[in-house]
Amino acid sequence: MGFFSKDIKTLDDLFVHTLQDIYYAEKQIEKALPKMIDKATDSELVAGFEKHLQETKGHIERLEEVFQMHGVSAKAVHCPAIDGILKEADEVAGDVEDKQVLDAALIASAQAVEHYEITRYGTLVVWAKQLGRDDCAAVLAENLREEEATDKKLTQLGEGRINLQAAE
Ligand code: FE
Ligand code: FE
Repeated sequence: MGFFSKDIKTLDDLFVHTLQDIYYAEKQIEKALPKMIDKATDSELVAGFEKHLQETKGHIERLEEVFQMHGVSAKAVHCPAIDGILKEADEVAGDVEDKQVLDAALIASAQAVEHYEITRYGTLVVWAKQLGRDDCAAVLAENLREEEATDKKLTQLGEGRINLQAAE
């Protein structure tokens, strides 16, 4: 179903479609993070990815909760955007040999993923409120907060010793 397909008539339809989109994205991220953990060298980066893998499993559960609250079945729709971000992450990582440079590449890729999630959850929180679903908005805001915290943590790691070592 295309983003502007005729199946989406109302803001409610769009809200559900976007929930399905981020549900797909979270499941792809859940599959991608173990590969990023395997490739990462810096212990803090590995720990950060491991923590976010657990959080990502929680995001999927919260989304299932939101589907249920909204009275629709949990379903994923293909999201070419996250597929592209993850494919590029994989390709770049495959081209990097130096371990420190690889960590820098993994941070950059992970931040692209977080920013995608942040834009989706930001929109979903606003739409949920506009649809009078403050209950759904509150749950979605919990996911948004964890994505934002992860993005900040990655920025700190990137600004800190990992990129400095990569630049040596
Ligand atoms: Fe997430
Ligand atoms: Fe995330």
